[in-house]
Amino acid sequence: MDHFPIFLAVQGRHIVVSGGGEAALAKLRLLLKTTARITVYAAEALPALTDLAAEGRLTLVDRALAPGDAADAALFYAANDDAKEDARVASFARADGALVNWVDNLEESAFITPAIVDRDPVTIAIGTEGAAPVLARAIKADLEARLSPTLGLAARIGKGFRAAADALPMGRKRRDFWAEYYSDIAPQTIEKEGEAGLVPALATLLDRHLSGTASPGRVDLVGAGPGDPELLTLKARRLLDRADVVIHDRLVSPAILELARREALLVDAGKTGFGPSMAQQEICRLMVAHAAEGAHVVRLKGGDPSVFGRLDEEIAALDGAGLDWSVVPGVTAASAAAAQIGQSLTKRDRNSSLRVLTGHDMQGFAEQDWRGLARPGTVAAIYMGARGARFIQGRLMMHGAAPETPVTAVENASRPDARVIATSLARLPADLDTAAAQGPVILLYGLAPRAAQAALPLLQEEFA
Ligand code: SAH
Repeated sequence: MDHFPIFLAVQGRHIVVSGGGEAALAKLRLLLKTTARITVYAAEALPALTDLAAEGRLTLVDRALAPGDAADAALFYAANDDAKEDARVASFARADGALVNWVDNLEESAFITPAIVDRDPVTIAIGTEGAAPVLARAIKADLEARLSPTLGLAARIGKGFRAAADALPMGRKRRDFWAEYYSDIAPQTIEKEGEAGLVPALATLLDRHLSGTASPGRVDLVGAGPGDPELLTLKARRLLDRADVVIHDRLVSPAILELARREALLVDAGKTGFGPSMAQQEICRLMVAHAAEGAHVVRLKGGDPSVFGRLDEEIAALDGAGLDWSVVPGVTAASAAAAQIGQSLTKRDRNSSLRVLTGHDMQGFAEQDWRGLARPGTVAAIYMGARGARFIQGRLMMHGAAPETPVTAVENASRPDARVIATSLARLPADLDTAAAQGPVILLYGLAPRAAQAALPLLQEEFA
């Protein structure tokens, strides 16, 4: 290790920067997070810098650095984007006794600035001794995604509660208390009640740990998105990482289930839509039973839980059992399918509304406002519509929809095996038969893939 990572006390101390351009600004973005006093020497400065000076966040001296300027500086940055000037000011600052960083010059620097993940008071410094800045950035991005943005707040409030928590015996008991606070209680409380709820929540948690009562279970109803694991929300990832039990739909892709904690119990509630499936009642019973035993249950649903997800029945069951729950939205199939064909779901001068419908419901093929749907320019995302394609086509044409209206069926949207079937209302059932899709299919009624759109006038002639 040629560079030893430390955390330097800078509160109220002086940090001096030489330079008024991009290099200086980049360093200042980091330095301004500290409680140090900052002075910038620059004969010429970017407007962003003069703005910061006007806001009183730093002192801007509009001349080049001179001997003595860094006399009381804890740290000095030579950031002029100009090697000659950097060499000049670095030697002055060294003579003044400051620790010198010469931006982008490892050999001439007494210290280097790491990539920083900031969840103050939790800070993570990442350094590669100049070997691989790209790698440092990748690690930073990874950590940024993994750590809740509210972690710093939780740590700040937690710090103030340490003395109270000392009522718990040292060791395992105290560790369990803090582990539950940071992994569950803090994020949930901040989300529901904001910062103000944290201290009362800590007090309740402490009471529970002092009396030795088991932690109550909970259920998070989480959207898994359309299949691509990268389309999971950060929140969904974090919850999967912590869940004791994951009850998932058939639509949830194996790549996503991989992300569940290794010890988690995975329950396949496989609803195939038409084939055999676990009854809704049984799913509700399972969720309640596991949570009642203290488990953290993630009910993982394809797409967004609020879109044809029978969410209300599950929430009613949880409320009935007096269990805590939350809903985490996900990317719905319609969004994924639209992305797949490069189209937007709404468009000025085409459709100012989007209809979201199901091809079939509990009673069978679903009736809709066919007259409205048949109007030119209408766009609808039809879930579970493939099997009812002939019925949908018949109803729409009966109500006057043009046979050449574009319809795009997207199978396995967002997945590696995605398939786009661009067709028209007239040819929809036949083209779907030919395609013989095995995966989930969504119909985008009124939309053609962007690429095929150019060919549409031809299509219309065919039906003229
Ligand atoms: N809650 C889900 C929808 C559940 S209903 C969501 O928001 O996406 C199940 C239907 O969703 C399927 O029949 C299909 O029409 C659609 N669907 C789900 N995932 C899909 C995918 N990856 N590609 C295409 N359609 C999908």
